[in-house]
Amino acid sequence: MMRWMLPFATLAIALSPAQAENSAEIDNYVEANLISIFYHELGHALIDIMALPVFGQEEDAADTASILLIDALYDNQTATAIARDAAFGFLDEANAGEDTPAWWDVHGPDLQRYYNLVCLFYGAEPDSRAGLADQFDLPQERAESCEEEFELALSSWGPVLDELSKAGAGDTIKYSGGTDTLTKRLIADEVAALNSEFSLPETLQIEVTDCDEANAYYDPEAKSITICTEFEPHLRDLATEN
Ligand SMILES: [Zn+2]
Repeated sequence: MMRWMLPFATLAIALSPAQAENSAEIDNYVEANLISIFYHELGHALIDIMALPVFGQEEDAADTASILLIDALYDNQTATAIARDAAFGFLDEANAGEDTPAWWDVHGPDLQRYYNLVCLFYGAEPDSRAGLADQFDLPQERAESCEEEFELALSSWGPVLDELSKAGAGDTIKYSGGTDTLTKRLIADEVAALNSEFSLPETLQIEVTDCDEANAYYDPEAKSITICTEFEPHLRDLATEN
């Protein structure tokens, strides 16, 4: 599968994003988590639009899509910075949440999503990312299966991404919500970059709107992804409180 190079130059490798201290680190953390969330929702959209079979929980498949897309779309250094901050995001959510995970939630518990993210991302490049697995306390017994987990995930998603890429550049992902906030600028950039690399068989609408909660979702009826404006302040709080 080709590795796309998106124009995402503002992220630097953050040394300790869990204790984000300055505004640039906090912005990087917020952006990385928004990217992780946006690509999770894009995973849901692709499952629907491409009529992909899903064995197991669709939320897990969307998480996998998010990690594979980040690994495929960005250069290694930027992808690592995003994966690192997104992993801290799950860890921070776990630390900020209740002691007992909401087991009824269709999303996996945050700590499980954290280990899945670290394992898949490490499994994509086990030689160069061993330090990352170490830093994120990925247990050896799990680490041993990560390369295989990545290969399995890639065997499902790789052909889908190749098909989108073969369709070439286009204008199938629509966003017209402006660029006056960090979230909106980020979404505008991601949509432009995605359109410059591939085309979907159907139009997908992206909205950034107020929802009264820090949420994001894909609507299969409207073929639209909504990113709630409330996510940005929520992530800023997580970055500074943990
Ligand atoms: Zn989801």
